[in-house]
Amino acid sequence: MQEPKDAEARRAVTPVICYPNDTLPVPDLESFARARDGAEKIAEVRVEPREAATFRAEAGQFFRISSIEGPQVGDLNLWNAHDLSERFYSGKSRALHGTHLTEGERMWSSFPYLRPMATITGDTLGWYGIDGFGGSVHDVIGTRCDPYTGNLLAGSQYHHCCHSNLTRALADELGVSLEEAEPHVHDVLNVFMCTGFTRDTGQYFMKASPVRPGDYLEFFAEIDVLGALSACPGGDCSAEHSSDTAACHPLLVEVFAPQAGALDGWESPAVNGYDRSHGRRAPS
Ligand SMILES: [Zn+2]
Repeated sequence: MQEPKDAEARRAVTPVICYPNDTLPVPDLESFARARDGAEKIAEVRVEPREAATFRAEAGQFFRISSIEGPQVGDLNLWNAHDLSERFYSGKSRALHGTHLTEGERMWSSFPYLRPMATITGDTLGWYGIDGFGGSVHDVIGTRCDPYTGNLLAGSQYHHCCHSNLTRALADELGVSLEEAEPHVHDVLNVFMCTGFTRDTGQYFMKASPVRPGDYLEFFAEIDVLGALSACPGGDCSAEHSSDTAACHPLLVEVFAPQAGALDGWESPAVNGYDRSHGRRAPS
């Protein structure tokens, strides 16, 4: 294939940030921190290795995901607790914040809602930054490990990928069949996972997570949420996933409720303000 004469000039064009985030609504982390002081633990759930578990947090509460016994990656799904059609939108969260999320950044919901579902208020791996390979933690670039891709690439029938773990956990939570639950499972926030894209081939890579017992990622629930967390069969994702060979550990989810009045003046965000006429009728 022949390059055009100005190929180098075209490659040399400076990139432009797609969504400059200087107009993105800024969470009031200081008032969240004040509310977190004195908050009481009201629930906890242990996520067993190669399984998933669900939890609920009301708007204004906090939930924390912790590594407890060994390095372990978690795949997180989030829904509006009252309407499962509003769910975490990994792709748009990536477009707004970048490939990996940390303190002060948010999990945004799907169209037509597009509002913050949860804000990250604590990240003990915030020190990691971006390593020499371009890797970082808590990505929104992966999807979730699933049995369909394993079947496509290796002809396998493996049943404890995060996709299946999340499907079983949601089915149990809602009291519905696996067939009913599965379409609600969506692309995740890869909690504690260390990932990036190779510079030379642009391929998705993972490497051993820097997480250690005691590390956590903590969130402020902006709306009433139903969450599901899978302890990935990849363990710390240092070698492989979608099998039973990696060392896996449990994860802990804890929910904390602030004292009454601690969030006075704060309001749960409204759904997105676009009028949804899509150019077909006069906006009402
Ligand atoms: Zn997984």
